[in-house]
Amino acid sequence: MTPQQTNEIKPKYKDLLLEERDQLVARLEELGVGGDGLSYDSNFADSSQVTAERGEVDRLALELQDALNLVDSALSKLENGEFGKCEDCGGNIGEPRLEAKPSARFCMDCAAKKR
Ligand SMILES: [Zn+2]
Repeated sequence: MTPQQTNEIKPKYKDLLLEERDQLVARLEELGVGGDGLSYDSNFADSSQVTAERGEVDRLALELQDALNLVDSALSKLENGEFGKCEDCGGNIGEPRLEAKPSARFCMDCAAKKR
């Protein structure tokens, strides 16, 4: 890989990350977890069925929030030149992996060790 390529890769990942960010924010808003935080529908507050579903929604909202945090941290890494480096071993995460998951924090090897 030439240095020139490295410079051209960044905007591509930035676009991917911003796109992912938009989708995550939109899904959080769909769940009622927009800027106002969790909003419960009081009409269904005493239905145990809904309480169970609500727990599922909260779990999903947490997952989305985690993903959003990863995307935000990847975006700040793009700014400070740390993007694409494994947070564990410091090696290159590798393009195929970054293309599939631009917010990846670890290289394939380190991610496999963590399972
Ligand atoms: Zn690694």
